[in-house]
Amino acid sequence: MTLRLRNTLTRSVEPVVPLEPGRVRMYTCGPTVYRYAHVGNLRSYLLADLIRRVLLYHGLEVVHVKNITDVGHLRDERFDRGEDRMLVAAGLESKTPAEIAEAYEAAFHADEAAVNILPAHVFPRATEHIGDMIVLAEQLVDSGFAYVSTHGTVYYSVGRFPEYGRLSGNDLSELRAGHRGAVEHDKADPADFALWKHAGEGRLLRWPTARWGEGFPGWHIECSAMSARYLGPEFEIHTGGIDNVFPHHEDEIAQSAALTGHPPARHWVHGEFLLMAGRKMAKSAGNFQRVTELATAGMDPLAFRYLALTSRYGRKLNYSKHSLEAAAAGLASLRTRLRGLGPPPVEGPWRAPTALRAGAAGDRPEGVAAGVAGHGDPNSSLRVADLAHGPEAPLSPDGRRMHDEIVAALDDDLDTPTALAGLRNALRSGIPEDERRWLALDADFVLGLDLDRVWATSMTEHDGVSPRQRELLDERTKARSSRDFERADELRHELLEEGVEVTDLPGGQSTWRKLERR
Ligand code: AMP
Ligand code: ZN
Repeated sequence: MTLRLRNTLTRSVEPVVPLEPGRVRMYTCGPTVYRYAHVGNLRSYLLADLIRRVLLYHGLEVVHVKNITDVGHLRDERFDRGEDRMLVAAGLESKTPAEIAEAYEAAFHADEAAVNILPAHVFPRATEHIGDMIVLAEQLVDSGFAYVSTHGTVYYSVGRFPEYGRLSGNDLSELRAGHRGAVEHDKADPADFALWKHAGEGRLLRWPTARWGEGFPGWHIECSAMSARYLGPEFEIHTGGIDNVFPHHEDEIAQSAALTGHPPARHWVHGEFLLMAGRKMAKSAGNFQRVTELATAGMDPLAFRYLALTSRYGRKLNYSKHSLEAAAAGLASLRTRLRGLGPPPVEGPWRAPTALRAGAAGDRPEGVAAGVAGHGDPNSSLRVADLAHGPEAPLSPDGRRMHDEIVAALDDDLDTPTALAGLRNALRSGIPEDERRWLALDADFVLGLDLDRVWATSMTEHDGVSPRQRELLDERTKARSSRDFERADELRHELLEEGVEVTDLPGGQSTWRKLERR
């Protein structure tokens, strides 16, 4: 079995087939960095993260590109006056657009790291690819798919592309009839969209062109140009939130396919919305939350990751204090159960399976990384083996069946709720402790809940130990780091009397487990 995902383009669930052996390329529509990302945005980045992790689990190398929109695009009613989003934000914060973008881009990386989203290999910035966008717009004009208006704006002529509407299911005549509000009067057809816009007075972010004077790009051309640059004319997967289907991805397909004869990606995967108080979480509606607010409230940000896993990506998910607390409790109970099994042995068949680390925000590539390397890169520490089909441990028939059930759920269009249930069943089952622990840590390669941290004494999480035991553990960590081994030994004995067994691991780390009271 292999990963099967629903494809919005064909409206069916299809296997992901690498176009070249062993390697999958994926493009994800990334953040607009004129404001903070909210947890709704993170839900759609988590979708891409899960796809990537499942493919890696199957031993496929994944090359992942996620764009940074640092030039304004007109999508929001508030900005329909024609003002550039970056400029509006800059005006509000009395900073330059570049300063604004830089600050929010850094915040975005930190937010992704907080929920264990693996960093893309390239984070191309729109402002660094304006030349590619101009070339694309010129090619579309030259091939008759676009025209220059009397105002010097370049529009795509949707009537020239017979497949327009295939992705979203929109009908062109209905689109025309449905156009409300002010239509730019230099358009030949109300459904046409801008590739390149003429820059009026007072616009700071503007670029010269040979043919159309100074201007700035439309939003959709950004992703057509940057996906082609880093992933080529055809790649396997394109992801985004459901609101990207139209117009963004419809227009991206129209732009790219006009020149290449086919959509840029085979598989178009869209995540449903995260709702807050019954409505789509959105900055403009004022109902949004940042992931950093969870940490401020004393909650592990991974509780949000867990919450996202409790629902299928194609379903709306409610975000509330209640749902988040339920997720935090679910995660805590998973950890408690695992901690009870004790840490994995350092060696032997039941040692900890291969783990995937998302890294800290500071480790993430800035803008355009030099060259794209997947996790299969020979310099990468992660070995690419098919862990899904060839588990590294000598599982019993029962253990293997549980493992395969989890894999089957993940392969089934990312059925994470069933995978989580499978993990719980495995932890509760009667198979040996070593095997249970191993299955949980192995599943965490995809789930990304940092389950192996339950044995680290530096954990800030307090479930499972009393404040007194926590104090002793912390004191022992300090004693060891100041090389006071005598005191560390005394504390080990005290902890043992308290019912906590501490084991020191090679490399200075320690783990601990609570002993069952007889
Ligand atoms: P934006 O920065 O507005 O371009 O959004 C970035 C990504 O987040 C896009 O893929 C959107 O589709 C997605 N998105 C925005 N709001 C939500 C939401 N409430 N739930 C899930 N995804 C969202
Ligand atoms: Zn995009």
